[in-house]
Amino acid sequence: MIAKTGIERAEYRNIWVIAELKSGEIHPVTHELIGAARGLADARNSEVWTVLIGAGASAGSGSLFAYGADTVIVVDDPRLNGFQDELEAKVLVRLIKKYKPEVVLCGATTRGRALIPRVAVAANCGLTADCTGLSIDPETGDLLQTRPAFGGNILATIRCPNHRPQMATVRPRVMKALEPDASRRGRIIRESILDMDTGKGKKIIEIFKSRETALNLSDAQIIVAGGRGMKGPEGFKLLKELASKVGGAVGASRAAVDAGWIPYAHQVGQTGQTVQAKLYIACGISGQIQHLVGMQSCETIVAIDKDPDTTMMQMADIAIIGDILEIIPEIISELDKL
Ligand SMILES: Cc1cc2nc3c(=O)[nH]c(=O)nc-3n(C[C@H](O)[C@H](O)[C@H](O)COP(=O)(O)OP(=O)(O)OC[C@H]3O[C@@H](n4cnc5c(N)ncnc54)[C@H](O)[C@@H]3O)c2cc1C
Repeated sequence: MIAKTGIERAEYRNIWVIAELKSGEIHPVTHELIGAARGLADARNSEVWTVLIGAGASAGSGSLFAYGADTVIVVDDPRLNGFQDELEAKVLVRLIKKYKPEVVLCGATTRGRALIPRVAVAANCGLTADCTGLSIDPETGDLLQTRPAFGGNILATIRCPNHRPQMATVRPRVMKALEPDASRRGRIIRESILDMDTGKGKKIIEIFKSRETALNLSDAQIIVAGGRGMKGPEGFKLLKELASKVGGAVGASRAAVDAGWIPYAHQVGQTGQTVQAKLYIACGISGQIQHLVGMQSCETIVAIDKDPDTTMMQMADIAIIGDILEIIPEIISELDKL
């Protein structure tokens, strides 16, 4: 049992990020979480540690320092080939007991969602999933974990004062990675799989590569997104035309998806994709919290709406007031002239 209260909390130190290897490459969410961990560790005058577990993991440690890690624990073993969540969880729990981190962060990816609840249960420390904001009380080390609650109607900030480590997951593209600094160096600790970690777990017989069916909105640099204000599928044809002219992808609010105007793969928000584009053009989207949590980290937000008082229009860097079905064709014709 790892739960700790009172004075024993002082034994727990440093902010950990559980790295994710995807086809041998470090998943970008790892760099994003290291960026978030850096701020937390600096506030606590402690270090950022990254745990990199997998077959061939040793090769990936360098970039973790560049993005802000101070120490990387590497567990590189051929038995970790594929996704061995049971084995990885056992190794992680053992490492947590040994090194006692104050906070453990993991990406809310398919892999992270399968792995980290096992660790949280074995470590008896709870888990706040899908956080949209993280900060830390510099005095107590309590992690302030903000996430949508009650169907996204409120943002709740969760604090776990009686247990260590504190564990949270964050979806890709919610946090921002730091600019990599190739000159940064750090310490590598090599750990092994022990007999106590292995057991009668599952055996992977064959790995199939999935066909990419979902639209990869999260990598798009420009997104033209439409909501109920687009009025129907015809409105989305206009958005597709605009998106193709500016080299962007089409996003949508849930209202538009639910109405059947565009497939779910385009949905942005709490129950859709999280995006971090350089430019997000919100067309006839009012800006309900469930939509905002999926796109608020975009660099520049342009909103077009007939109502100047919507949340989206108020938060936008550029707000254009007017009828969207007139404004989009005008923008397209101006682009054609260029
Ligand atoms: C559990 C849960 C999860 C959810 N998850 C998501 C999610 O992932 N993503 C998401 O988007 N929503 C989600 N929602 C739904 C969310 O609460 C809102 O209902 C939805 O985002 C509203 O979509 P909208 O902004 O397109 O529609 P509206 O709020 O109806 O806004 C339409 C906007 O269009 C403008 N407009 C209308 N006509 C025109 C015109 N001719 N010209 C210009 N402007 C015009 C209006 O002024 C208005 O601002 C979720 C809700 C729940 C309860």
